Order: sequence, then C-alpha cells, then structure tokens
Amino acid sequence: MATAPVGDDVYGEDPTVNKLQALAAEMVGKEAGLFVPSGTMGNLAAIMAHARQGEQAIVGYDTHAISWEAGGMSALGGVVPRTLPTDEQGRMSIAGIEGAISGDDVHLPPSRLILLENSYGEKSGYPIAPDYFAAVREVADRYNLRVHMDGARLFNAAVAQNIAATAITQHVDSVTFCLSKGLCAPVGSVLCGSASFIRRAHRVRKLLGGGMRQAGALAAAGLVALEEMVERLADDHANAQKLASGLAEIPGIRVDPEATRTNIVFFELEDDVPFTVEEFSSRLRQEANIWVGGYSSRRLRAVTHYWVNADHVNLFLQTARAILS
Ligand SMILES: *Cc1c(COP(=O)(O)O)cnc(C)c1O
Repeated sequence: MATAPVGDDVYGEDPTVNKLQALAAEMVGKEAGLFVPSGTMGNLAAIMAHARQGEQAIVGYDTHAISWEAGGMSALGGVVPRTLPTDEQGRMSIAGIEGAISGDDVHLPPSRLILLENSYGEKSGYPIAPDYFAAVREVADRYNLRVHMDGARLFNAAVAQNIAATAITQHVDSVTFCLSKGLCAPVGSVLCGSASFIRRAHRVRKLLGGGMRQAGALAAAGLVALEEMVERLADDHANAQKLASGLAEIPGIRVDPEATRTNIVFFELEDDVPFTVEEFSSRLRQEANIWVGGYSSRRLRAVTHYWVNADHVNLFLQTARAILS
C-alpha cells in the first residue's frame, strides 16, 4: 500500500485504482469497474444509475439494502422498494417477482429494477446457485427490467459451489462486491457492469461524495484481496462448519449446522440459559478475545475470516461450553 503508484482518481489518473477496476471487471465478466468506499455506496450508485425517482425496485424484504443501508435507495435515490418474502436460501419466488411487476397503470410506480444478493447474509450467507439467477434474468428480459446483484460476499458464494464467479454474474447487469469482509482488505468495494452503466454510476459516486483522490493506496490492498484471498475462502467455510457442528453439541445452544454453507454461523441461546445475548458475548470477549455480534434477543452471529483459524474455533467451543456449564 505504501509503495503503490498513485494519481488523482477523480481525473481517472490513479494507475493502481485503474488496475484494480480492470481486474475486478474481468473477474466478474463485465466491461468496467468502479472502486467505491463501501458496499453501501456501491449498491446505492448502482440503484441510482439503473432507476430514477419514482421507479420501483423489486427486492427481498431482508436483503442488506433494505435492512442495513439506512434506506438510501428511498432517502437519496427516490426509488420505491417493493419487498417480497424470501425462502430459506434468500430467494424471492419467480412467480412472486413476476406478480410484483407493475404494468402500464398510472397508479403504480413503474418497475425498473430487480435487486438480488449472493451469498445471502440474513440466511447464514447462503450461496445461491446460478440457475436461480438465470430464471430471474429470463423474467427481467421479458419485462425489460435491469438486474443488480449485491455480491458483498460473491466470492464466498462462488468458492462454496466450486464455480467461477462469472457463472453467477453472467445473469446480472451489475454487481458490487466487498474487498473487505472475507477478502481481507481494510476498506473498499467494486461495482462492475457495462461501460455505459459504469459511466452513469461514476457520476452518482461523485454526487454522493465518493470521488477519492490518491486512492491507489487503498486499491493496492484490493489487488491483494483479489489475487491472493479468493481461493482461501474455502478455509473460512471449513472453519465455520467446524464451529457450527461444535456449537450444536453444546447444551444451551441451538444451531442448524446444515444452514452454514459459507462463513456465517447464526446460533441461539436456549430460553433456559440464564444469560442475555449481550452478557454471553461480553464474556466470550473478556475470557478469550472472541468477538461475536448479538443479533436479536436470543440470536448471535459469528463470522470466520482470514484471522480465524481452527485453533481459534476450538478455543471458541471450549470457552462457550465453560460459560454455559
Ligand atoms: C457488508 C455488506 C454490504 C456492504 O456494507 P458496508 O457496510 O457498506 O461495507 C452490502 N451487502 C451485504 C450483503 C453485506 O454483507
């Protein structure tokens, strides 16, 4: 990062940013890429480049852009979300999508966009298979809609299925993925799509204040993320599976190891456990420097990554067992 060649990226003159954008686009099979400070900004820039104020986006009710992005699509984009239920993998039904598409009726916000996510965060990071996206694409094409994928953990979804990321992204017009998260860069995401789409998104990024100057120092870490961190995501998945199966054997914890297919483990404290989620997670932190997120009154989330190895998983299991015994 310290020795990366840099330039002014607002003028498109940062060679390291340009290299990152080109590599990212190639890895997802799109014409162009745009380096953005966060996944949230990548999704918002995509939504605003695809849809105008008053137009409708069809989305899963528990997708990240609905739950965790401060309502940006409506607050800043004026885009009207039409939320649909999702199944245990995070899929809206194809019939549901088709039924939600507004026809030529002046009462309704015109449908413009379908928003997808893979892997699906709220469903333990489920890696959805490409045939679902092919089916969504078919509906989108029939109604002339655009398709954006929040692929914050796209490479987890690809590695877990032992397929190329392009097997998934070939079915969408645009995709964002995070260089942080499992790929281990300190900051940044990339939005990819056609050259003309990325030109529109570039203007939105500027509008949102996301034009960065000598950003090559950050992009350099992004290049390491893409070149060296993708294949090893399989280790995170194996560690998450080890954690989920181990937790399943501890009295007081409820978990479905089958649901963990990538690097996210949701688990619950049984009702008779005399701890709140906050008490349990703060004891894990104090006793073994294990950091887990409290998700709801009985639910916690653990995520494995580059800095978590199999010994750490064992420590987690021992500590959790001791706290609950
Ligand atoms: C992390 C994440 C994002 C981006 O969130 P930021 O906080 O902006 O980095 C988007 N979608 C999903 C599914 C994510 O997990």
